Amino acid sequence: MAVENRKIVLSGGRETALAKLRLLLKTEARIEVYASHPCAEIELWAARGIIQLKRRRLGRGDLCEAVLAYAACENEAANRQVAAMARMEGVPVNIVDTLEGSSFITPAIVDRDPVTVAIGTEGAAPVLARMIKAELEARLPSALGILANIGKSFRKAAEILPAGRGRRDFWSHYYMRHGPRALDSGGAKAVREALPGLVEKHLVRTEREGHVTFVGAGPGDPELLTLKARKTLSDADVVIHDRLVSPEILELARREATIIEVGKTGYGPSCPQAKINSLLVGHAGRGDQIVRLKSGDACVFGRLDEEMAALDRAGVEYGVIPGITAASAGAAAIGRSLTKRGRNSSINLLAGHDMAGFAEHDWVSLARPGGIAAIYMSIKSARFIQGRLLMHGAARNTPVTIVENASRTSQRVLAGTLATMATDIAEAEISGPAIIFYGLAASDRQAEFHPEKKEPA
Ligand code: SAH
Repeated sequence: MAVENRKIVLSGGRETALAKLRLLLKTEARIEVYASHPCAEIELWAARGIIQLKRRRLGRGDLCEAVLAYAACENEAANRQVAAMARMEGVPVNIVDTLEGSSFITPAIVDRDPVTVAIGTEGAAPVLARMIKAELEARLPSALGILANIGKSFRKAAEILPAGRGRRDFWSHYYMRHGPRALDSGGAKAVREALPGLVEKHLVRTEREGHVTFVGAGPGDPELLTLKARKTLSDADVVIHDRLVSPEILELARREATIIEVGKTGYGPSCPQAKINSLLVGHAGRGDQIVRLKSGDACVFGRLDEEMAALDRAGVEYGVIPGITAASAGAAAIGRSLTKRGRNSSINLLAGHDMAGFAEHDWVSLARPGGIAAIYMSIKSARFIQGRLLMHGAARNTPVTIVENASRTSQRVLAGTLATMATDIAEAEISGPAIIFYGLAASDRQAEFHPEKKEPA
C-alpha cells in the first residue's frame, strides 16, 4: 500500500503499540498515536516530531482520512471498540496479534530495503513465522539492500544486454558473485565501478547452446532432491516432466520457466515418446536450457536411452543428475536395507509390466528361498506376479511389503505375504505410485521412518 504522507492511526501506548510503531516508522506515513498514558519512548518520538501524539482515547472523527488503523491497546475490549469505530468509518483495521476482527494483517518482515521478505501464517503460527524470520535474517547478507539499490540505478544500462537469459545471467552473476565481492573489497563505490565492465563481459559472451539435463526428481519429497538437481531446476528455461513428479518440486522452477507435462505414469494415456523427443530437440534448437525431470532416478525405468538417442541424433548436448529411486525411498520407509550380509547379497529391480503388457522374469530363481525383489509398476499386475511366483514354487508365507507414495506425507505401508498380496492391494485401493518388496518384511521400527510421524513443526 502506498502510504506516503497518508494518515495511519494507532491506538495504544505500551509494549504492543511500540512494536507496531517501530515497523510503521519505516514507512513515510503520517502516524497519529492515541494513548492516555504513553510510555517514555512514544513521548520521545512525539517530542522529536516523528509521530503525532494525542494523550487521550481514540474518539469519533479521529479516523477521518486515515488509510489504516491499528488497535494496539493492551486490553481486548478497548481494541474491539477501536475496530468497531474503524469499520464504521470504512477504514481497514488490524487488531494486533488477533486475526478475528482484523480486516488486514501485517506479516513479519525481513527488511533489506528495498528487498523485503514478508512472512505470514494467517495467524495460524506466529512462532513459526518468527522462526522463519530468524532463519532468513541469518541467511540473507545485510548488504543485500545496498546491492539492490545500486542494481536498481543500473537497470537501464543493463538493457543493452539481450532480454531473457542474457540479462538474467548478468544479474545473477552480479548478485551472487561479482557484487558481494566488489562490496567486500571496496564498498559501494567499487560495486558501481565494476558494473560497466561486467556488462561488457556479458555482451561479448556468445549465445549459450541449448542443453538438456536429465534430472532424477526423487520419490516426491522435495527435500530428497540433490543440491545439483535443485540448482539446475531453478535455472532452467524449460522443464519437461512426467506426471509422477510432485507439484512441490515443480514449485522450485523459476516463475518464468515453461513447464510442460508429458504424462507418462506407466499406464493410462501417455504422451508418445516421439513427441517428447521432438519437444526436447525443438527447445534445445532454440538455445533453451532444458530440465527433463523424471521421478526417482532417471536411469531406473525412465526410458532414458530413447531420449538420449534422439538427442545424439540431433547433436544436442546433455547430462544426467541421478536421483533417489523408489526402491531406496521404500526401503527407508520400511526400515530395511535392500541388501544384508547373510540374507541377500543381491536384489532385483523389476518392472511389473512393460510396453507389451505384463512382464516375464526369471520366476524360477525369484521363487527360491531368499529371493528378493523391488517391483516397480506392479500394482495392476500384482495378481499376475503372485500367480507366477506361486506357480514356480515360492512359499505362500514369503513376506511382501508394499509402499505407496514413499517419502510423501501420504505414504502408506501394507504388510502381508505372497498369499495375500493381490487381495491386500485390492482392498487398500491404492491410488498413488507404489512399489512392492517381495521377500522383504517391514521392520517393527518402520513407524519412525513414516513422514506423518515426524515431529510436528
Ligand atoms: N524412475 C523411477 C521409476 C519410474 S517407473 C524411479 O527411479 O523411482 C514408475 C514406478 O516407480 C511406479 O509405478 C512405482 O512403482 C514407482 N514409484 C515412483 N515413485 C514412487 C513413490 N513415491 N513411492 C512408491 N513407488 C514409487
